[in-house]
Amino acid sequence: MRVLLVEDDDTLRESAAAYLRASGFAVDPAASGKMARELAAVSPYDAVILDVGLPDDDGFALCTALRRRSPAPRVLMATARDAVEDRIAGLDLGADDYLVKPYALGELVARVRALLRRPDHAAPAVLEVDGLLLDPATREARRGTRVITLTTKEFAVLEVLMRAPGRVLTREFIGEHAWDDNFDPGSNIIDVYIARLRRKIDAPEETPLLATVRGAGYRLGRAGRRA
Ligand code: CA
Repeated sequence: MRVLLVEDDDTLRESAAAYLRASGFAVDPAASGKMARELAAVSPYDAVILDVGLPDDDGFALCTALRRRSPAPRVLMATARDAVEDRIAGLDLGADDYLVKPYALGELVARVRALLRRPDHAAPAVLEVDGLLLDPATREARRGTRVITLTTKEFAVLEVLMRAPGRVLTREFIGEHAWDDNFDPGSNIIDVYIARLRRKIDAPEETPLLATVRGAGYRLGRAGRRA
């Protein structure tokens, strides 16, 4: 899932981005409100981590602008310890949750995961598609009793597919949600990851779960199945 990380503190932004990436998220860091607005104008984000105190922008106005996008990303606001009014204002403006600074990076990741589990994302803690299970918290996948070990990027691609079971996802959609701003739409990287995933998910004796839909994209699970 793809996250926009808005934070003007260089050290915190870099460490949080590294931690989120190691946890399987695609992350676009933004050091300013201006950069956040530019990125949000061109990329669909599943979640935004928003530092309220930005030197060049009003964090609350930025939250409102981000929430107006369609589909609206989940917003996790980071506020100062004693700023109770900030937290209330943020929640009133549509932020989904807040985190008090300084926060532990493990808690940041857990909060983002929790946001992505809420009803609009229609996903339980452990994702399941036709007997294939994926736990985003541990990044462990299994099919039946078979444990499937995934790299961070394979996990990211599989999570995007598993959140839209039975739907044909275009390469562009997968790229937008599993890669950050460095994604090159002209490359064949998605096909490479799909091929790797298919080898891991679909053993020769099993019913294939990961289908290629010619000229359209990829589908995980039976067509027309309800999420
Ligand atoms: Ca700040």
